[in-house]
Amino acid sequence: MRNQPRILIVEDEPAIAELIAVNLRHNGMSPVWSEDGDSAQREIDAVLPDAILLDWMLPGASGLQLARRWRADPRTKGVPILMLTARGDEPDKVSGLDAGADDYITKPFSTQELLARIRAVLRRRSPEKAEETVVLGGITLDAAAHRVLWNGRPVKIGPTEFKLLNFLIKHPERVHSRQQLLDRVWGDHVFIEERTVDVHVKRLREALGPGGALVETVRGAGYRITAQPAGGSREAA
Ligand code: CA
Repeated sequence: MRNQPRILIVEDEPAIAELIAVNLRHNGMSPVWSEDGDSAQREIDAVLPDAILLDWMLPGASGLQLARRWRADPRTKGVPILMLTARGDEPDKVSGLDAGADDYITKPFSTQELLARIRAVLRRRSPEKAEETVVLGGITLDAAAHRVLWNGRPVKIGPTEFKLLNFLIKHPERVHSRQQLLDRVWGDHVFIEERTVDVHVKRLREALGPGGALVETVRGAGYRITAQPAGGSREAA
């Protein structure tokens, strides 16, 4: 997991955006600023943020329209959105929440309030408990001890392979595309090629030995971990 959450600020007023960015940076977060929906969309296409601070009144598409669009897109629908609204816009708040915003905050707001709200949506977003132990097939992943066992015996595994397995094993029996794995495992992947995923999957299988068969390639779609591998060639569709 990255320890610096990436926060996309969509705000057309540079002074407000700058103030927010400085405060986020001072509190261990990594802010990115876009002044309208189009540039925000380009940011999102390049790197999926951990949360979005979305101003209501923007040139071009409004915050409301953007919130609806990002909620409808499978890639962004899990990203928390905090709407920034002007004081007294009560109906706006309701429409914002209807459009899929997770929370709203009224301008002017205190830095402490903003940080508290952001931390709250980030916590809600990460259901994967760091201490959790997960068992699938013969694989045991003990996240607290950062340890992986195959049939009860410790497996030597690299940090990226550990993160990859940690994600796959907590979302089993489902196919994840390379793009989705880059988003969820690497996060900040603007300079990482999809082929990198293949390299780490290969290493993960090698580390697991016979347990590597549980990590299946789904041709043309991506990868899946399963308690009941199909058998035969792993590369089979
Ligand atoms: Ca504005």
